[in-house]
Amino acid sequence: MPPSRFAAFAIALPLYRAFEYRIDDSEAVVAGTRYRLPFGQGTRTGVLLSVSDSTDYAAERIKPIEARLDQRPVLSEHMLALAKWMSEYYLQPTGEVIFQCLPSYLRGSRVYQSLRVKRWQLVDSDADVIDELQSRSPRQFEIGLALLRQPGGMTAAQLKQINPNWHAVVRAMESKQLLRWEWVDAAVNPVIASELPRLSDEQSAILGQIEPRLRHFAVHLLDGITGSGKTEIYLRLIQARLADGLQVIYLVPEIGLTNQLIDRVRQRFGDCFATSHSSLTEYQRYRAWDRFRRGEVRIMLGTRSTLFSQCERLGMIIIDEEHDHSYRQQDGVRYHARDVAIKRAQMLDIPIVLGSATASLESIANCERDTWFHYRIDHRPTRYPPPPIQLIDVRNSRFEFGCAAPTLARIESHLAQSGQVLIYLNRRGFAPVVMCHECGWQSQCRNCDARLTLHQSLQTLLCHHCGFNQAIPETCPDCGHDEIRHYGIGTEQLEQGLRSRYPDTPVLRVDRDVISSRDALKARLQQLQSGESCILIGTQMIAKGHDYPAITLSVVLDADQALFSASYRASESLVQTLFQVSGRSGRGDRVGEAIVQTRFTEHPLMQALQRQGYREIAADLLQERRLLGFPPCARAVIFRADALELKQALVKLEEIKTLLGQARHFERLASVGPIPALMTRRIGRYRAQLCLLSADFQALRSVLSQAMPAIQEIASSPRVSWNVDVDAYDL
Ligand code: ADP
Ligand code: ZN
Ligand code: ZN
Repeated sequence: MPPSRFAAFAIALPLYRAFEYRIDDSEAVVAGTRYRLPFGQGTRTGVLLSVSDSTDYAAERIKPIEARLDQRPVLSEHMLALAKWMSEYYLQPTGEVIFQCLPSYLRGSRVYQSLRVKRWQLVDSDADVIDELQSRSPRQFEIGLALLRQPGGMTAAQLKQINPNWHAVVRAMESKQLLRWEWVDAAVNPVIASELPRLSDEQSAILGQIEPRLRHFAVHLLDGITGSGKTEIYLRLIQARLADGLQVIYLVPEIGLTNQLIDRVRQRFGDCFATSHSSLTEYQRYRAWDRFRRGEVRIMLGTRSTLFSQCERLGMIIIDEEHDHSYRQQDGVRYHARDVAIKRAQMLDIPIVLGSATASLESIANCERDTWFHYRIDHRPTRYPPPPIQLIDVRNSRFEFGCAAPTLARIESHLAQSGQVLIYLNRRGFAPVVMCHECGWQSQCRNCDARLTLHQSLQTLLCHHCGFNQAIPETCPDCGHDEIRHYGIGTEQLEQGLRSRYPDTPVLRVDRDVISSRDALKARLQQLQSGESCILIGTQMIAKGHDYPAITLSVVLDADQALFSASYRASESLVQTLFQVSGRSGRGDRVGEAIVQTRFTEHPLMQALQRQGYREIAADLLQERRLLGFPPCARAVIFRADALELKQALVKLEEIKTLLGQARHFERLASVGPIPALMTRRIGRYRAQLCLLSADFQALRSVLSQAMPAIQEIASSPRVSWNVDVDAYDL
């Protein structure tokens, strides 16, 4: 046997271990490189972690690698270290975490080729040579002439503008040795806009405090009311980092309205940035990743997983709307992008800037730590403050498509003054309940403990959890009665109602059902941008991050549900949403108004909304969490199991609980479960959970580190699978 060594690989499997393969001694090995590995009957892609001369296993049984996939490692040492930390902190299988850090395009066996751009030039810039082409080959002449005028050469995109079939022509010219090409590795340099807005006093004071601290790790929380100019501060900080020759990652929540921010960044810095979000294809996101990695662009702007972008010279991370739930990944590898970003910044000794008008209770509590700086902005640089929240008591109201009469009156008054109106309704579809008037039958999902939502445009009943759909029955499946009615309002019905009531006003709906078409979304946003009177309706997508100065009225239709939710986070989320939605209005030179429909005007939370600002309410909520012993004043770790039968899931969790119970200090933790999950059946599987809760973080970590090695051995199978969720969002 030739001399060989043993290499450990990460493979994307829900297993808590690395896999060993034999690797040729002569091979230059670098951690972070992908290999094709024999696995079972087939092959798998693995990321090389380390190499050793010896192995704990029987050496002769270790298989050799099959092939190396990358010339250069796809993951840097820093990324591998971050992944290792994530896997330890979040108790997630290493292989899955490591593959999570790659763009999805590279998670399989596609070869990583840097996506550098080629540039063609004339071999000989002798005009006579080109002239000769004119009669024989007019298409070659045309390209030759263009290149003659552009001695620096041209890229494929430029050549395509001359001739859509440029490729064949260029091929022919290459074979005649008229052309040669080279890689363009040129970075796109920032072009800073020449006219910047004059900073408000608050903005400049904050910049003055952050700028001297840009050289080292620190967490800066920008706690500024909606429209207070936080984005402007980010842009100035980015500018400072670019001037130092560094790169920046800028994260925003998963929103449909990112376009506006993209335009803003382009206006400020030119084309020196790349974007990455879910409406791009895998390949487009991979391209963005590669451009940032090579330093071709300096800013990477995108949603959650953009955090894993790599580059040579990262100088800052920005997390806008840091309270937003989309930073939490709930399936697969469970992590919180904000918290991982803070760790990443600490590892690299760079600053991280979090911003929100409705900071999470986690961040508010964290501001007591030394490495956190807390800045407040209490005024908008524009003319009017955010509007106070007004409650509209709808207890005895008649509704039309979800709107009470006083609400309609406000809408009409704003439309009459050519304002734009935003209406928030976090429920898509036409109606959430379909019921038999005679026997009470309700349309239930076959696979989930959930009702089917009526989608009139699709002519179906649809499950929002698993996608199951069925035709709308004409008669009751149980009693045969022919009076099937629907109850409640979704965005589709609201849109229809508003359209027929205000035929001359454009009604723009933005929710997941409509924005799958990007062009449709673009048209809607242009309408908003134009400043002409219109009504914007939508789900959570329209609550965040955008800045349309013509919006003068914000309306929230259904706040009440959250008042009685089983989730301990419901109040925090509701308050955040209400302040965010209300803060979308009055950003321009007209005063805004914000109204919330409720049947519970006396509810303490509703009362607080009328009288207090977000910070005061948040302080009270935090105090309440402290008294109850809930996060962020305690840590929560949840083990979940799902199976074809509820009993199997519960048994699996009992097994886990027994192992946890054997650890020292287990008695110091509160544990709840195993119990069936709130929504017990989802996508055809029964779900249960076991929750550990403790304010004593040391004890919790200690129990986990004692018990996890044995728990990790418990296999997941398609029949019963389990996972663990550290810093779980909901209990
Ligand atoms: P936030 O991110 O806090 O919601 P933005 O940065 O989007 O706030 O600012 C809200 C609006 O105020 C934007 O239209 C922005 O152009 C404007 N703005 C921000 N800073 C200034 C300033 N210093 N002078 C004038 N207008 C400003
Ligand atoms: Zn019936
Ligand atoms: Zn379902």
